[in-house]
Amino acid sequence: MIYLDNSATTHIDEEILDAMLPWMKDFFGNPSSAYALGRKARVAIEEAREEIAASINAHPAELIFTSGGTEANNAILKSACIESALTDALAVSAIEHHAVFHPSEWLADQGFTLKILGVDSRGVLEQNWYDSLPSEKTLISIMQANNETGVIQRIDTMRALIPEQSFIHTDAVQSFGKIPIDVQHLGIDFLSISAHKIHGPKGIGAMYIRKGIDFKSHQHGGGQERNRRAGTESPALIVGFQIAVRNAIRQLETRQQHMRSLQECMRALMKEHIPQARINTPEDSAICLPSIINVSFQHINDGEAILQLMDMAGIAVSNGSACVSGSQQPSHVLKALGLSDQEAKAAVRFSFSKDNTVEQITEAVLELQQIIASLS
Ligand code: PLP
Repeated sequence: MIYLDNSATTHIDEEILDAMLPWMKDFFGNPSSAYALGRKARVAIEEAREEIAASINAHPAELIFTSGGTEANNAILKSACIESALTDALAVSAIEHHAVFHPSEWLADQGFTLKILGVDSRGVLEQNWYDSLPSEKTLISIMQANNETGVIQRIDTMRALIPEQSFIHTDAVQSFGKIPIDVQHLGIDFLSISAHKIHGPKGIGAMYIRKGIDFKSHQHGGGQERNRRAGTESPALIVGFQIAVRNAIRQLETRQQHMRSLQECMRALMKEHIPQARINTPEDSAICLPSIINVSFQHINDGEAILQLMDMAGIAVSNGSACVSGSQQPSHVLKALGLSDQEAKAAVRFSFSKDNTVEQITEAVLELQQIIASLS
């Protein structure tokens, strides 16, 4: 199988799995227990917290473990609006992941003002987006990199453009481990990350909550995670996350260069072999992740058929958006870029990891060429 859906999830590295196992088999203590077995787990968690926090230039006390990106996004948005009452209004981009979009819509149903910020044809936030913020203390949630097209937003420029009492959250689930992240430099209040996009285990992620923010959790229970996320922590998952982060940071440039060369190779091959292809990922490498190429096809209505035929050929790719009850809805991300329903339905996302090769990319494009010819 050729696996080119690494933005959906990545395979877990063998080394990471090996490091996790003792925390399930031998050192199974509850990290909140006072005896030696519990204390050992606590030490492992706090060491992991330190290392992961350092990777984004945060203080360990600012990093709270969650079950992943979805939980981090929900907890931040809902706490900011409801439990912590930091804000009465939200502004989110039109291309956010559903894990930001849907909680925002839910909050709008509860009476909070919701402003959707448009993007240009590349997917970059429209100029002067800050002119239309609904309140002085809006929570602005803009993803650092988009999961369907890979487009990157200039989060670092945002703080200077908004009222002092406003808050910034960035969903960095796709960008974490692919581009450097420094929460101080970005000037943000909240951030969400997840382990399974960087060869770590599923079911673990974290939220960064800037020191000084009075964050109250919507999840009530034990006092874990400084009362910010109740529930017994999983030392195995957290240790797996730690090693995934360590490897991603140490190999950041090597992985970037490798994936960028795969991306460039795929772009060139598509242009050469598939004239109907419209590449939706911006060509400017300064504004796109190295790991994604999103492409749609003129005159093809059935994006699902492309994915199925690729699957039958042993190539795993996706359209980057969820299918609703079996009937493929046009991607809200591609629609926001100005694509027609037809183009937004006939889209394929290829996403790479450190482990893909040029041979795999070539094979995938040649297979796609035949599939597009058969469907045209
Ligand atoms: N945000 C973005 C941008 C994502 O791509 C994803 C997963 O695809 C999520 C959030 C959800 O993360 P998780 O799977 O860890 O819940």
